[in-house]
Amino acid sequence: MCRVTAQIAEGLKMSPRKRIAIISLLGIGLGTAFVAMLLLAGVFYSSTQRLHQITQDLYVHPFAVSNAAASLKSSLYQMRSSALLMVATKMQGDDWKQATDSINENERQALQALAVIKESFLGDLAKVRLIETRLDEWRVIRSHILDEVRQGNFSVADQLIQQQGSPKFNEIIELTDYVLSFARTRARQFIDEGEAESDLLIRRGNLLSLILIASFLLTSSIVVWRVRYLQNTLSQQATTDFLTGIANRRHFLTLVEAEIGRYSRYGGSLSLAVVDLDVFKNINDTYGHHGGDSVLKGFCAICRKSLRETDVIGRLGGEEFGILMPNTSITEAASVIERLREAIERTIVPHGELTINFTASFGLATAGTLPAESLLAELFRCADEALYQAKNSGRNRVVIAQA
Ligand code: GH3
Ligand code: MG
Ligand code: MG
Repeated sequence: MCRVTAQIAEGLKMSPRKRIAIISLLGIGLGTAFVAMLLLAGVFYSSTQRLHQITQDLYVHPFAVSNAAASLKSSLYQMRSSALLMVATKMQGDDWKQATDSINENERQALQALAVIKESFLGDLAKVRLIETRLDEWRVIRSHILDEVRQGNFSVADQLIQQQGSPKFNEIIELTDYVLSFARTRARQFIDEGEAESDLLIRRGNLLSLILIASFLLTSSIVVWRVRYLQNTLSQQATTDFLTGIANRRHFLTLVEAEIGRYSRYGGSLSLAVVDLDVFKNINDTYGHHGGDSVLKGFCAICRKSLRETDVIGRLGGEEFGILMPNTSITEAASVIERLREAIERTIVPHGELTINFTASFGLATAGTLPAESLLAELFRCADEALYQAKNSGRNRVVIAQA
């Protein structure tokens, strides 16, 4: 990744400061995305743990406890009604045995429910221990009651129920009700706390997701921006001449082809000038290669100034250039090029403390009567021939090709 970002940041002609800025932005974007991802994972992990805990504490436990408390209460009511029925109906023999078995079974269920409460209850455990003690005490009283009934002492048994059994029983019911109401409160709390925790999880998750998306957007836009920049730079390099900044030979020919296509379709006029700077070798010899380069740039600057926006200039090679003039008749082209030649003649190119004068020769051709099927080649052939004549007839002149 580092190499890729470094390559992207490297670009062409990029200042070290810009490079550092881009690498830093990419680093910040990727770093933030990474940290946001870790945080997001952390938030989800801790929230699921917390929700699990809430579910255990406020739902699973209270649910089990309230079921057990309800079952305990029901067993107690059944035990008491069995005892009361025994006394009221003066049970004996098999009936007594059956009622005793039912009381024993209810007692077993009550103890089972109590065990569940002891295991899961999260409230005041002293009260649970008190239920246990009161249940033990009730069991002692219950044995006496059963004995008295078995022996036929029904009024003694009734007294035992009224004076000892019922108060004990009521006390256990009251304690069990406390357990039940505690469990209900916890269930309500479960809903509130669960909602609050889920809200928090959603808010944190949303925030982190936004940060994550923003970081990815930041990094991807930097990458896209750099790739576009490089694409533009490369395509510009492929079409322009490095020294003068005008169209290179290949691109110039493409533009000429396009204009020829337009001309063939819509008609009008089209003229081409081929230019060669005069005795350029001498300029190089006299002022050095840098001097020659300055002249080439100076020549292009005059062309840009003298020609129209729609005219196309290209460097064909060395000190030879092409000027394509769409919608320009040979007469118009001749006057445009003559003006350009004069402007060149007047131009002084500064070179250190010296100045350089130079001239150029022009060969001019027009599409008019040339064969349409090989227009490109014919235009250049005619313009080259005219240029040859311009050179041979003394240079610094414009020669129009004969049709
Ligand atoms: P002519 O008037 O007959 O055109 O003579 P010339 O000296 O201009 O023609 P010649 O072909 O003998 O020399 C052209 C010179 O242009 C030779 C070459 O070194 C020089 N040249 C070509 N490209 C460049 C360039 O990019 N920069 C510089 N400084 N010189 C160049
Ligand atoms: Mg030359
Ligand atoms: Mg030449």
